[in-house]
Amino acid sequence: MTEAVDRFTELLGAERVITGEGLAPYRSDYTEEEPREPGLAVWLETAEEIHAAVIIAGELNLAVAVRVAGSNVGALAMPPAGGVIFDLSGMNRILEVNEEDMYAVLEPGVTWEQLKAHLAEQKIPLSMGYPLSPPDTSIVANCLLDGLGNLSLRHGSMADWIGGLEAVLPDGRILKAGANAASDVWFGNGPLPHLIGLFANWQGTTGIVTKLAFQLWPTPKYRARLFVLMYERAGAFAAFKRLARMPIADDVGGLSWVTGKMLLDVPRPKERDPGEPEFFLYLDLSGNTVEELDLRRRMLDELLVQLEKEGFTSERPFDIETLVKLNPMFSKFADFPTRLEFLVDTPGGGLSWVGTYGPLSRFKEYADRGIEIMERHGFPPAVVSRPMKGGHFGVLRYLTVFDKSDADERRRVREMNIEISRAGYDLGFLTYKTPAWAVEILKDYIDPTFVEVMGAIRKQLDPKGIMAPHCWRFDADERGDP
Ligand SMILES: Cc1cc2nc3c(=O)[nH]c(=O)nc-3n(C[C@H](O)[C@H](O)[C@H](O)COP(=O)(O)OP(=O)(O)OC[C@H]3O[C@@H](n4cnc5c(N)ncnc54)[C@H](O)[C@@H]3O)c2cc1C
Repeated sequence: MTEAVDRFTELLGAERVITGEGLAPYRSDYTEEEPREPGLAVWLETAEEIHAAVIIAGELNLAVAVRVAGSNVGALAMPPAGGVIFDLSGMNRILEVNEEDMYAVLEPGVTWEQLKAHLAEQKIPLSMGYPLSPPDTSIVANCLLDGLGNLSLRHGSMADWIGGLEAVLPDGRILKAGANAASDVWFGNGPLPHLIGLFANWQGTTGIVTKLAFQLWPTPKYRARLFVLMYERAGAFAAFKRLARMPIADDVGGLSWVTGKMLLDVPRPKERDPGEPEFFLYLDLSGNTVEELDLRRRMLDELLVQLEKEGFTSERPFDIETLVKLNPMFSKFADFPTRLEFLVDTPGGGLSWVGTYGPLSRFKEYADRGIEIMERHGFPPAVVSRPMKGGHFGVLRYLTVFDKSDADERRRVREMNIEISRAGYDLGFLTYKTPAWAVEILKDYIDPTFVEVMGAIRKQLDPKGIMAPHCWRFDADERGDP
């Protein structure tokens, strides 16, 4: 470690090499994962520094984990024990916004709030899809982890939004993946083999992305954010399926009564009140004219009437402005990105979830099982869900806030999450941003040749196994822990 500190200090200067107590923020994340001790962390600001730092790590056989805000809720950015954290939060330049071809080339530290402010300042009439992540987290990390946002109903999960990238490979070479390998416009994968896929969902095991083209979308002139109270979850999922196939909404999300109550400042809701709706849906509608927006509202009304006839009761939609007047707490949902304090600033400090992507045809069945498991383990069933990519799949996520200082509660959260994940895999739902404990379960379900090919690619790119060795460990023995 002394040699590592010396080499990185020579490269970056002492103030950008972090050791000792300075490492406290890197030891843990929101989740129940036990803290781990990194050897050191380094603050990197340019692609050249990443390149040089990767070479040093390779020479010293030091395990590397990349981190921006560390908010992935899967312990992915936590340090491999004794390894080095590459902190990229200071590498945050917006390198280009191509208004005509609708993308922005970003460094990994660029945040949601930063790009939003930039587009507003420059009066660029383009917008992005927002996750419910805190505003100061990384867009590039979200794309690489294939997250989801409020335009995912129309445009799919976030890896689909990558218009091209540049990455430092574990041996220090620089790879351009996407149309930008041969074109000066970063317009997508292009008619080339999909090398962007070598980085999407690989959790930093194949290299470090230094630039990424993030696709933007035209900003519609008129918008409405509406809420619909659904009395049972079956009705919410029936609405998801219909809405996904109709040109009504840009986004449809669903929150269970627990999540709704947490939003209203009830930290751990226990009981659903008599007559309280089980789910609330939030929808974004848009139009380029008032008439277009009104037509969509009418189509939504008609759909709800139809669902009512089929036995799924709901309240008529009301808009966010009305809701905020009723209770100012709902302003959290008025504008994105937003910081959901009821999830991240809780007294116990712990937030964990099982987030899955899976088929809408089985949402009801998996929700029934997941909610039963949460209740049996003594946690309120906080569920967040939405259909994606026109209904080809959707996200179903089971959230828990807990007390990080309570070892027994951490253990109970982990046991519950394992059970929920296994129930999901049984029904064909796959955990996203797959944490190491979920990879253990996935081993029982995944095609062995898939794992073999994945291992071969990883070995080819990273023969020493230094890149995020704590991630995607299907075969711990083969790779070894540097
Ligand atoms: C309350 C809350 C709500 C959230 N809601 C959502 C949501 O709605 N949708 C959603 O998708 N996510 C959500 N998240 C998760 C998370 O906030 C987002 O995925 C966020 O964009 C991650 O950014 P980060 O800066 O925290 O990444 P980090 O956690 O710092 O990084 C995560 C990992 O990404 C990879 N990575 C990052 N940068 C690079 C790089 N340059 N090269 C290679 N690999 C890299 C590495 O594996 C790294 O460990 C939520 C989190 C919280 C706390």
